[in-house]
Amino acid sequence: MKAHDGMYIDGEWRPAAGPDTIAVVNPADEQVIAHVPAGTSEDVDAAVRAARAAFPAWAATPPAERAARIGALRDVLVARKDEIAETVTAELGSPLKFSHAVHVGAPIAVAGSYADLAASYAFEEKVGNSTVHLEPVGVVGAITPWNYPLHQIVAKVAPALAAGCTVVLKPAEDTPLVAQLFAEAVHEAGVPAGVFNLVTGLGPVAGQALAGHEGVDLVSFTGSTAVGRQIGATAGAAVKRVALELGGKSANVILPSADLAKAVNVGVANVMSNSGQTCSAWTRMLVHDSQYDEAVSLAAEAAAKYGERIGPVVNAKQQERVRGYIEKGVTEGARLVAGGPEAPREQGYFVSPTVFADVRPEMTIAQEEIFGPVLSIMRYEDEADALRIANGTVYGLAGAVWAGDETEAVAFARRLDTGQVDINGGRFNPRAPFGGYKQSGVGRELGSHGLSEYLQTKSLQF
Ligand code: NAD
Repeated sequence: MKAHDGMYIDGEWRPAAGPDTIAVVNPADEQVIAHVPAGTSEDVDAAVRAARAAFPAWAATPPAERAARIGALRDVLVARKDEIAETVTAELGSPLKFSHAVHVGAPIAVAGSYADLAASYAFEEKVGNSTVHLEPVGVVGAITPWNYPLHQIVAKVAPALAAGCTVVLKPAEDTPLVAQLFAEAVHEAGVPAGVFNLVTGLGPVAGQALAGHEGVDLVSFTGSTAVGRQIGATAGAAVKRVALELGGKSANVILPSADLAKAVNVGVANVMSNSGQTCSAWTRMLVHDSQYDEAVSLAAEAAAKYGERIGPVVNAKQQERVRGYIEKGVTEGARLVAGGPEAPREQGYFVSPTVFADVRPEMTIAQEEIFGPVLSIMRYEDEADALRIANGTVYGLAGAVWAGDETEAVAFARRLDTGQVDINGGRFNPRAPFGGYKQSGVGRELGSHGLSEYLQTKSLQF
């Protein structure tokens, strides 16, 4: 696959400071498809300096012009959509159809939403005798994961650019090729040199250098809670802004009045899509005692159908990790009704779509984020019990509630400690705020709430 052997800094591809590279592997067949440079603190420093230098002019650029550049970026992504889908499929392993629909579709929608918002947002407001100016925070260090590789980049870079910030991006080491493609798109869209910069590299090296760099004003991170905690501590010590999108262990609560078959089928699809590598996946299905057995057989059937359609997980380490969790579920006494720990294919990092029944709230598989195609079905006695189980983890990213009527579902959803809830299968909305309660994170992405993360206020009194 096509790859750049340098970093995109100050509007051009520059040689990396060091000789080390990272091999990019196709998880479907375990073949090395490309190499990208492993950035060092020197590369990060050069990128931050470029972003710093570009900041005053970009911050002073009229919002309509910033909106035009983001709109142009969206158009380039549209024009190159086949290439993007093929690249994500090659480095992440997701089936091509899913790459087109989601890995390309979502970032295009998000880029489009920020082109609109940048043009219409009120960057100035009146409060009594004051005028409040919403000004860009400065240089953003964006650190992204591999699971929705382009979406997570666009969800940070588009609002940052809309706000008038400049950016240094450190993408995940497993999926750097789509990040390079994004840098090309930014260039083609006519975004001025230094406004967006890309440094590929390892998390503990390039990522850490970026998170701790004194020239960065805001660190926006998506990934594991363990690394997020570390980044939050570094940012806190430097009194620097931080946005954290971390893990999840969301509940899919099926109330007795719901359409059970629909709720179960959509619930299984939600967990299995992207091979279970979705932080907001509803990995715990909560079903009333009276419907439990029926729900378990419906879920087992739905998961079995996924067998041939599911892509691999991202790498060998992740495959081992997920299989470890499945074994742990068996050891702790959950009942396997679909899938299991054995690799379904000889080649590629595949995991069988797996469903556990008789999962108790205290089990490891009910508490920890697995990040693989594994669903836990749990039983509840009444609504109070369902609420206690649903809220009984350290996470609070997403969730779902199903009921015969929306009012009943909404009443339950309002009591969930979580940042997003889909009511009776409500669709993803790229303009609605996305982010976590509790240990699922700090701050929000997408829409106007996502834009405000990149702004700070200045009040002028008259
Ligand atoms: P990770 O947190 O290790 O990596 C995410 C990003 O952070 C990558 O770009 C990585 O290079 C960078 N990073 C790693 N260590 C760093 C450090 N010390 N300083 C700065 N940056 C650093 O996540 P992962 O290893 O890719 O995945 C592990 C687990 O994280 C998954 O199994 C899953 O539970 C969770 N995860 C969550 C999300 C989410 O969207 N919430 C996304 C991906 C992974």
